[in-house]
Amino acid sequence: MSKTMEEGLYSLLYLTLIFTILYSLHTQVAHKLLIGQHPLHLKKSPHLPLRFNSDGTFKILQVADMHYGEGMVTRCVDVLASEFDYCSDLNTTLFLKRIIQSEKPDFIVFTGDNIFGPSAHDAAESLLRAFAPAVDSGLPWAAVLGNHDQESTMTREELMSFISLMDYSLSQTNPSVDDPSRAAEGEVTKNIDGFGNYNLRVYGAPGSHLANSSVLNLFFLDSGDREVVQGIRTYGWIKESQLRWFTVISKGYQGQRQDTNHLEEASACAMPPAMVFFHIPIPEIQQLYNQKIVGQFQQRVSCSSVNSGVLQTFISMGDVKAVFVGHDHTNDFCGNLGGIWFCHGGGFGYHGYGKAGWPRRARIILAELEKGEKSWGEWIESGPGSASTMRS
Ligand SMILES: [Zn+2]
Repeated sequence: MSKTMEEGLYSLLYLTLIFTILYSLHTQVAHKLLIGQHPLHLKKSPHLPLRFNSDGTFKILQVADMHYGEGMVTRCVDVLASEFDYCSDLNTTLFLKRIIQSEKPDFIVFTGDNIFGPSAHDAAESLLRAFAPAVDSGLPWAAVLGNHDQESTMTREELMSFISLMDYSLSQTNPSVDDPSRAAEGEVTKNIDGFGNYNLRVYGAPGSHLANSSVLNLFFLDSGDREVVQGIRTYGWIKESQLRWFTVISKGYQGQRQDTNHLEEASACAMPPAMVFFHIPIPEIQQLYNQKIVGQFQQRVSCSSVNSGVLQTFISMGDVKAVFVGHDHTNDFCGNLGGIWFCHGGGFGYHGYGKAGWPRRARIILAELEKGEKSWGEWIESGPGSASTMRS
């Protein structure tokens, strides 16, 4: 072998060695250098801001009480004997997929007890499975917590933080204090009780004169889990600090209308209506038992023994038109208290208690912008189950 050939061979061997080392580094070691040994994942965001469609509608799907456990191994409760053998959390997943496909909502709201802590050995895993159909749909979605979500491996703060980082989620642990546009909210934002108090705005249709105006406000509140009051165990409630924050935001929107010189815009934004979502019903909902309601009132309202003045606050602000709660799985009625609609979502998940033979259900909320004068009318039952529409 000539010297030149020998040198060439050595160079080739040398290059092969270098390539092998680089390849091994890339395949065997590189992923271990990443945080948590997982490839970095950037959160996928939905198309923002939330907007009404050009036909003046905005459709919200409310999913109450999924009670998700661990998927196939988590059995259904309160279903017919004929359904039991093949029924698991996967039925909840299938139900969510189907309702998203058939209703094509613009936004999905989960009103708590998203996972059922005692049946979830790994809260993160259960959250990923529970919300998977919403994430896969690519639709914007948001969630609040119920009283069972934290009974697994995560605190309420950790749960909300995790949920807010999931793809297409608009959930927030609490309002951001760093947001300069919200500086006016000041101290009320810093010292707020609970996790999952936040506000989202829905703007007018693209290209319309309301495209830059918030025409519907969505509020999300943490109604807590359980508390002990004077030695007696009761459910959580919305605290004064949360109502203070709500009042400041609501007043802020009402103040905005005076700034606008555009006549049409001013009238449309005169009082942007608000909807509020949380888990545990307020005590006054019990009064609806003797009043005219739409839907079914089948179980006692399980609320807190503490009345913190939620209804009075909402009435005094004047912008809240409807409130959506979960918690009582076999109640799916809407009733009016002081001019505000209060609606239960019914139970969605098959691992949550229910009533055998009474189908699991979801609520469809259709907000419609009317041309000209804005008014909020009646709830109209539309379609199967508890689907309801609300005209605005
Ligand atoms: Zn529940």
